[in-house]
Amino acid sequence: QSLGELGTAAAASRPHVMFIPSSGMGHLLPFFRVIAALANRDDVDISVVTVLPTVSAAEADHLAGLFETFPRIRRVDFQLLPLDASEFPGADPFLLRWEALRRSAHLFGPLIAGASPRVSAVVTDITLTSHVIPIAKELNVQCHVLFISCATMLSLVAYVPVHLDSKAAAGDEVGPGVGDVDIPGVRRIPERCLPQPLLDLMNQLFTKQFIDNGREMVHADGFLLNTFDALEPVALAALRDGKVVAGFPPVYAVGPFNSHTSTTAAKQPAAAGSPEAWLDGQPAKSVVYVAFGNRIAVSREQLREIGAGLEASGYPFLWVLKTTKVDREDDAELGDVLGEGLLERVRGRGVVTKGWVDQEALLRHPSVGMFLSHGGWNSVMEAVAAGVPLLAWPRMGDQRVNATVVVSGGVGAWAEHWSWDGEDELVTGEEIGEKVKEVMSDEVVRARAARTVEEAAKAVAEGGTSYRSLEEFVGKLKAT
Ligand code: UDP
Ligand code: UDP
Repeated sequence: QSLGELGTAAAASRPHVMFIPSSGMGHLLPFFRVIAALANRDDVDISVVTVLPTVSAAEADHLAGLFETFPRIRRVDFQLLPLDASEFPGADPFLLRWEALRRSAHLFGPLIAGASPRVSAVVTDITLTSHVIPIAKELNVQCHVLFISCATMLSLVAYVPVHLDSKAAAGDEVGPGVGDVDIPGVRRIPERCLPQPLLDLMNQLFTKQFIDNGREMVHADGFLLNTFDALEPVALAALRDGKVVAGFPPVYAVGPFNSHTSTTAAKQPAAAGSPEAWLDGQPAKSVVYVAFGNRIAVSREQLREIGAGLEASGYPFLWVLKTTKVDREDDAELGDVLGEGLLERVRGRGVVTKGWVDQEALLRHPSVGMFLSHGGWNSVMEAVAAGVPLLAWPRMGDQRVNATVVVSGGVGAWAEHWSWDGEDELVTGEEIGEKVKEVMSDEVVRARAARTVEEAAKAVAEGGTSYRSLEEFVGKLKAT
């Protein structure tokens, strides 16, 4: 064997994976979790493309934490081309970052080609897919997508372009929105459950990205998902059998993902005054945990109703509250936000915090009895893994689709008629309080959540479906 051949053999047995993540903690955290799972084994080399400055402070903190925890991971700095934000007035800052990344994507080529050891595979985010796949193909490098939502959502993204084409071919009127989408082999998603921008096919930011990515994704080498077979058997089978889109790439359901820190950091005692310390003092399964993800701003009026509802429920609660989409801009005073007296009235019984919490760890605390959530997919899976019943109150994006899985997977309830971002209707504190009481005392939901947590544990244990899927994925990386 020549030296070159030996080098190739070594690279094949020890693949080098370059991760190209997107932005928003809901996108970064699942990347970090997969990166940690791979970094904890010895047979894969890892690089992570890093764009600074990040949109939010939480992203910057967590990126720094990742490289500190795993010094062997290579950080590949990436200089974003400037984007003129005035092109998209009023756009969500995270969506603007996705667009900026997409427009800078041609610069990923030299990064991939120039890396040493040779990059054997790229793993990217759904928001960048239509730009990254062609680049990887040209360089003859595998391209996988770490899809950060559920398998049902993946089937929707894959099917929407087919749905639009078949409508156009049949001469059916298309627009202004996508319409109800009947995903073959999965389920019918009514238009009211689709991400809001899909109601406007002329939307040049999200909707265009969504459809372009959906068209290109069939050319990926595989999809990694934070779900497991027992949770979404129908959607996973339909994707794998080519019912959604013929010849769909392999789908690796490897969830629930583990926290990227819990595997390495030793458990510290809870700091005095922290939410953890407060939970330590509460009865088992008594606390309502409330959080709406890292980038949802609920209106002030609605926040007050949530406060009133939690107060009326009578249960202890821990509420992680955000008033702006981007954390750096959140300088509101809790007292002003929640109105006179609430914080005093619930002192000791309710904790409200605006800071970043380790949600994954909090949900595993034995005092937590349910989770009132927007139903972001990471949150759903964290609840599933902790066996905490969910009350899903979707607000935007994929969250209503996720809520269908919350119900079909038996991990909680869905407040189906509660308002969605852009709908003005206020959900009253009275309604919220009643629904919280209903879920807290629902033994059927609790028993199903307990069963699902067992199935989740079985899936990731040696020999389980998720365990085997991850091995298959690593096997594919080595097959270059
Ligand atoms: N998260 C957290 N602490 C916070 C806010 C958010 O740990 O203070 C985590 C949460 O556990 C989840 C992610 O951020 O892993 C948010 O993702 P999700 O898909 O639930 O919702 P998104 O923020 O994307 O809407
Ligand atoms: N998504 C997609 N293709 C895209 C952009 C987004 O499939 O080009 C999906 C992805 O699953 C995402 C969901 O649409 O989670 C909803 O996006 P949203 O605007 O709510 O942002 P996110 O909550 O993911 O930050």
